[in-house]
Amino acid sequence: MQTLTTLEELRAARAKLRGTFGLVPTMGYLHVGHLSLAQRAKKECDHVGASIFVNPTQFGPTEDLAKYPRDLPRDLALLENAGVDLVWTPSPEIVYPRDFQTYVTVENVTKPLEGARRPGHFRGVTTVVAKLFNALTPDKAYFGQKDAQQVVVIKQMTRDLNFPVEIIVCPTVRESDGLALSSRNVYLNAEQRIAATVLYRALCAAKELYERGERDGSKLRAVMSELIAREPSAQLDYVSAADRETLAELERIERGALLSLAVRFGATRLIDNFVLE
Ligand code: AMP
Repeated sequence: MQTLTTLEELRAARAKLRGTFGLVPTMGYLHVGHLSLAQRAKKECDHVGASIFVNPTQFGPTEDLAKYPRDLPRDLALLENAGVDLVWTPSPEIVYPRDFQTYVTVENVTKPLEGARRPGHFRGVTTVVAKLFNALTPDKAYFGQKDAQQVVVIKQMTRDLNFPVEIIVCPTVRESDGLALSSRNVYLNAEQRIAATVLYRALCAAKELYERGERDGSKLRAVMSELIAREPSAQLDYVSAADRETLAELERIERGALLSLAVRFGATRLIDNFVLE
């Protein structure tokens, strides 16, 4: 496995690879969720590249950029073990040189949900992903369903800007008690870790109601909010039952929905979602 830092090194290594190339973008501190993307890419592509970059432009001024967990040696060992061919680990100065002034903005689908609570977040995500697509020229790029709105936004950008990349969405990997794997789970103390299963429990309760025939979006949102309210260490940020493409809240669910929610445990904010077909 080749580990590359500068853009020149990266381009030279990429140019030598023949056949199809799959890209797995990450912010590092890898877990089994990230590795599931690499494994899928390995199955579907001749070569696989990953990026490890804690992207400053997608963090708000009061968010956890400085303390975001990092462990590069461990990440590199995991990627090597997963059979990844090359890893790009640029510094912020390489991705955003002095005088950087060009950003990618996706309009409507970045406005609700995460976009409403994290101003500028998706502008940072789309800008860095566009740069990764340009630098690594993948045939396929792998993203997790865990970040449901990110997937919608990236697909929109890919269509709108004609990137010749197929976006592959991989299922959310969970702990045995249902908690979605996340690099941020390490921030939880023992009590919060137990309480954090409430995201999964709330999604299961809403899904069950839907499967029993409930089609009123506000009822599905209410059942999720009620479960979160019963968990003393959890503070609800939002619950949503939205159209899977536009992400607009649904009053009646006729063609499936995206159930999603964000919940705080102290300073740690967790998100999760289910797709209702
Ligand atoms: P991150 O390092 O948090 O930016 O995540 C990198 C990629 O891994 C994104 O496409 C995420 O959606 C994906 N990912 C994160 N957690 C999970 C998980 N539990 N299951 C599947 N994919 C995940």
